[in-house]
Amino acid sequence: MNYIEPAPIKDKENPLASMMSRFDKAAELLGINDEMYNILKIPRRQITVGLPVTMDNGKIKVFEGYRVIHSTILGPAKGGIRFDMGVNIDEVRALAAWMTWKCAVVDIPYGGAKGGIMCNPREMSAGEMERLMRAYTLSMLDVFGPDKDIPAPDMGTGPREMAWLMDEYSKANGMTVHAVVTGKPLVLGGSLGRTEATGRGVTVSALAAMEKMRINPYKATAAIQGFGNVGMYAAALLHERGVTVQAVSDISGGYFNEKGIDIEAAMQYRAANGGVLEGFKGADLISNEELLSLAVDVLVPAAKEDVITQENAREIRAKMIVEGANGPTSANADDIINDKGIMVIPDILANAGGVTVSYFEWVQNRIGYKWTLERINRRSDRIMKDAFDKVYATSQKYQVNMRLAAYIVAIDKVASTYQYRGGY
Ligand code: GLU
Repeated sequence: MNYIEPAPIKDKENPLASMMSRFDKAAELLGINDEMYNILKIPRRQITVGLPVTMDNGKIKVFEGYRVIHSTILGPAKGGIRFDMGVNIDEVRALAAWMTWKCAVVDIPYGGAKGGIMCNPREMSAGEMERLMRAYTLSMLDVFGPDKDIPAPDMGTGPREMAWLMDEYSKANGMTVHAVVTGKPLVLGGSLGRTEATGRGVTVSALAAMEKMRINPYKATAAIQGFGNVGMYAAALLHERGVTVQAVSDISGGYFNEKGIDIEAAMQYRAANGGVLEGFKGADLISNEELLSLAVDVLVPAAKEDVITQENAREIRAKMIVEGANGPTSANADDIINDKGIMVIPDILANAGGVTVSYFEWVQNRIGYKWTLERINRRSDRIMKDAFDKVYATSQKYQVNMRLAAYIVAIDKVASTYQYRGGY
């Protein structure tokens, strides 16, 4: 399932700078020394490759691909591969570091990594995508590995691409290696529940936050920006828990219905309409900007970075923001959102359900056994709820917002593990 990205919104900030400014604040509060600061600031490994691919027109096009391993202190590196025109090394670096913090927040034994290729998957044929993915995998043979670095889907990639990666890696190693990648199709060692996992975790986080804010889900409203793999399932599951989802949006625009969008109908329409909501009936057309400023209880930005910025943060009227995407709120918008008293459930907590079920997929591959959906959902819900409670308790203890609290939990875990492992 591919992610859908809505049209970019102005004032793009550098995601690496956004990430580092939050890191700086949390490190200061924790009293992290310079030594540790530098260890966590500089990625362990950064790989850039050129990938010559024969396009359908017979011409060779060279793509630039990246893999950044931010940290392996907690375990093998883990993180998705993004196919998008906006991919650049700064973005991949920030996303890799976010994976380190994310895995630490939910307490799973992984470090953080991210990969990306600057390309437009919407304009590429299946054959071109396959050749690109296989070329990327071959160039990363010494990087990937079930105990070294385990990729997964991200924006623009899904189970199909992970299957090609697994196959190419397996061929090169002369044996089937399921555990080298997660987010695979079910028949290839994928896990039940992985597709919905991120949206499900967003829902668990939103419900936990609603409880703290004494908001009754059955009386609550929500707006979801981005109707891809994350937003779609977050919308469906919030709806299932009684929340009225008044608006959703994707690259074709926003769709608003005060009485609630029929999410199932929207999902069916999208599937039959080439993955976009364009022309969806049963809602009024609004812009992405209008969606962000709706007076709802829960706003879920579920597309990409820097959607809520200092330019539009003042217009936000939601009571809480649950970050389904990575880095949807720029660091410059943090204070504005804070001053408005809006509760933010940060990305490294709210969208960690995806990597949590990736971890379950990896565990199942390694023990050669399949868990039931019931077991997966129960365990991932528990992990998400425990992580929420820990971050909430930390925010009370340090008297800081949930974002800073999540960074404190993560950096503290990584730094204290490092004390045992040490450097050279
Ligand atoms: N790309 C997803 C994320 O940003 C999933 C990563 C994974 O499952 O390894 O969390």
